[in-house]
Amino acid sequence: MAITEPLEFPFTIISVDIGGTKMHGAVVHYDETGPTIESELLVSTHAEEGGEAVLEVLAGLISDLKREASLEPVAIGIGTAGRVYSQSGSIAFANSLLPGWSGQPVAAYVNERFDVPVAVLNDVQAHALGEARFGAARGKRNCLMIAAGTGLGGAVITQGNLLLGQHGFAGEFGHTFSPEAKGLLCSCGKTSHIECVASGSGIESRYFELTGEDLSGTAISHRADDGEEAARTIIEQAGYALGACIGTWCNIFDTEMVILGGSVCNAGQLWLDALKRGLASQLAECYSDLSVVLATLGANAPIYGAAEYALAKLKGNL
Ligand SMILES: [Zn+2]
Repeated sequence: MAITEPLEFPFTIISVDIGGTKMHGAVVHYDETGPTIESELLVSTHAEEGGEAVLEVLAGLISDLKREASLEPVAIGIGTAGRVYSQSGSIAFANSLLPGWSGQPVAAYVNERFDVPVAVLNDVQAHALGEARFGAARGKRNCLMIAAGTGLGGAVITQGNLLLGQHGFAGEFGHTFSPEAKGLLCSCGKTSHIECVASGSGIESRYFELTGEDLSGTAISHRADDGEEAARTIIEQAGYALGACIGTWCNIFDTEMVILGGSVCNAGQLWLDALKRGLASQLAECYSDLSVVLATLGANAPIYGAAEYALAKLKGNL
């Protein structure tokens, strides 16, 4: 989708973040000072109606954003839950939060509807790129993003750019072996992965196994804050196991900064202290300058990230 003419300011890119519940779209306006969000819309994904219905919702959202854009968009960037083939922009795999999303040719469909270059990437990759360019890791060149929400996603920024890998799947850290998760069945179908203990759904399942009570992650954190032993055990285990894995990943990637995002990051000081102990247990001594920070851009990070990804593809930089 590369263009041959140099892009001149100002221009706009339509950017969309597709989650299992909500679809967030925005018009991102670029000028000499950088990108700003010019207008945004939030709609229900209607995931339960299947993949083709989600494509219809996506097309409707893009039409509405196009009408609001001050300039005709030069590209469309889309971040979505699931694994995305980076070349074709189609969905290789999506879990039960988006039934029927696997196999959907998202980029081809949107390109045909709107006749504009389209780039599609995984939502955590989009989040990481947004934070690396304009948020918590602005100015950093080598970072990892760990998103601990319902699942456990990740992404790698290396030399300032997103690491895609052979297919586009690089950074799926949630599917790393963890001794604390030994024998537990993961959302990917394999066993013993860190997602089983360190994600929000993992914390809820482990607490249920221990107590027989079905509580939300937020309620479990509150109980841990109140000193309940079972809740403290589960939250500490989640933090420690994740920290240990992060230490291993940093040893592999020679990372400068780790950005933590997702709802589990609200689990409090007990979780964070355990994460730091786990990290110290595995991280090589030579990484004493590693910083671990919380994401700062919130829901705007994947919007900026998907726009930047589309821009990089447009310029032929990917
Ligand atoms: Zn897994």
